[in-house]
Amino acid sequence: MKPIVAIVGRPNVGKSTLFNKLVGDRVAIVDDQPGVTRDRLYRETEWNGKEFVLVDTGGLEPRNNDFMMSKIKQQAEVAMNEADVILFVVDGKGGLNPLDEEIAYLLRKKNKPVVLCVNKIDNFLAQQDDVYDFWGLGFEHLVAISGEHKVNLGDMLDVVVDLVEKVETPEEEEGLKVAIIGRPNAGKSSLVNRLSGEERTIVSNIAGTTRDAIDTVIEFDGNKYVLIDTAGIRRKSKVEESLEYYSVLRAIKTIKRADVCLWMIDGSEGLTEQDKRIAGIAFEEKKPIIIVINKWDAIPDKDGKTMKKMREELYAELPFLSYAPIEFVSALTGQRTTKLLEQAEMIFAEYNKRISTGLLNTVIKEAVIMNPAPTRKGRVVKINYATQIATAPPRFVLFCNYPELIHFSYSRYIENKLREAFGFDGSPVDVIFQKKN
Ligand code: GDP
Ligand code: GDP
Repeated sequence: MKPIVAIVGRPNVGKSTLFNKLVGDRVAIVDDQPGVTRDRLYRETEWNGKEFVLVDTGGLEPRNNDFMMSKIKQQAEVAMNEADVILFVVDGKGGLNPLDEEIAYLLRKKNKPVVLCVNKIDNFLAQQDDVYDFWGLGFEHLVAISGEHKVNLGDMLDVVVDLVEKVETPEEEEGLKVAIIGRPNAGKSSLVNRLSGEERTIVSNIAGTTRDAIDTVIEFDGNKYVLIDTAGIRRKSKVEESLEYYSVLRAIKTIKRADVCLWMIDGSEGLTEQDKRIAGIAFEEKKPIIIVINKWDAIPDKDGKTMKKMREELYAELPFLSYAPIEFVSALTGQRTTKLLEQAEMIFAEYNKRISTGLLNTVIKEAVIMNPAPTRKGRVVKINYATQIATAPPRFVLFCNYPELIHFSYSRYIENKLREAFGFDGSPVDVIFQKKN
């Protein structure tokens, strides 16, 4: 998804002309008659290697009730809502117009970055005073340009690209980022409410304008946590959300941002296919995961063996997640919920753990002596040495003469030996075999 930059402004200020200059070929209709450009036009373009989609909108004339105008206004509204950055074009030659002020008011309500382009400044030295008035509209970013004569368009695009980049990488909250994922009704928002309400120390609750999730910052035991919950969004747009595709996309985005994932399952219902798909995403993104069985309070006839039995069943169904701890909680009563935070902290440390090369090689050597890599067709695999090349997740390279002979099960054996020796609870571990004689 490329960022969207929308051009808005009242009719006849030069939007289409600017659009055409920026996208390179003449696609929008330009005419001296106001309001000729009726439809939104989308074109991909780039500046300094940064790609974005430029949208030309019809004129935005808030007071005009004429049918055509209200249609145009509607379309401009849609474009503004979609946009990441807005290019607000005004006519520098014609001077400040009451309509500009109305549009400025609408734009301020959108709370999106705006670049005010004072257009038709074909000769800056002669027209400096024309530009001056427009500062009064109160926008931080103002550039005097001439769309028609391509004056200052580079400076304007620099500002646009800067803002686009800021929108794409919003400043992150401090604290461990804990994504709460799971299918609808698993109890995600109940858990967030429980964790934030219980501690009564919500620092802020930021509704992400460009994000697909709600961040809640909480403090517990002197540590900050950013709880990223996808549930709030789902409530807002239940209709679109019926398409599972979107929930999967959201899950991927959320998981990518997270330090640790809490994957919630409704314990009173057990695993569904949708559950497994969500778990698969977290696994593929190689994030540390805690499996949270929620609604423990609603599980009937529990006894001393229920947890153990459920654990075994889950690991049997999800062998690829055998490294993930399983916790049983009740978001409703708060049972064991704060333990999740402590555990998230702990597995994040495991995820970032670095093992010294000396210690690592001692463990690998021992593992190989106990269970040598199988020979095939008379060839003997010899593992020379190992080194950790990355953390988050920990990644180990084992150098050997015939990496192609190493079977998955042997790689698994090495991984298990590393886990026995060093822990890595809750964290994925990568083991790679590489050629070296
Ligand atoms: P829109 O209705 O906002 O899309 O405006 P247009 O792009 O159709 O332009 C309206 C009129 O302003 C046309 O006659 C353009 O030639 C003229 N115009 C556009 N940009 C400039 C400019 O930079 N300088 C001058 N002098 N005229 C311009
Ligand atoms: P989300 O869609 O994953 O955010 O789930 P919600 O937090 O909205 O919870 C869905 C439903 O399950 C609500 O009716 C909750 O009251 C209920 N629920 C959530 N957690 C628990 C729990 O621990 N025990 C019980 N019995 N019900 C719960």
